[in-house]
Amino acid sequence: MRSRYSAFVVGDIGYLIKTLHPDKRQVDDEVVLRQTIEQTRWLGLKIIAHKSAENNATVEFIAFYQDDVIGQLHERSHFIKQNGQWFYVDGEMLPAVKLSRNDLCFCGSGKKLKKCHSV
Ligand SMILES: [Zn+2]
Repeated sequence: MRSRYSAFVVGDIGYLIKTLHPDKRQVDDEVVLRQTIEQTRWLGLKIIAHKSAENNATVEFIAFYQDDVIGQLHERSHFIKQNGQWFYVDGEMLPAVKLSRNDLCFCGSGKKLKKCHSV
């Protein structure tokens, strides 16, 4: 999950496609991913919950991005492991979460949210 987030940040489309489950790949994946990457300025990632078994895993996370205001992509992602490799299968979109202004900021600055990316 973290490695897919990092790939979004640096624009590593090859990695994103390689870690997408083969059944879920579409012919226009590369174009869609390129657009997403060009149009999105990611600010940080917060992992909310992580459950994994031998061959499947669920990761709930919030990825923060800069839009007119700061946006949240809050998702529960499903991964499966096949032939020793983890693949992203799909995800459920979840509602945005209200953050506490005294929590550490999602951007990793080490400052409290209210002194950093406060909205
Ligand atoms: Zn911040």
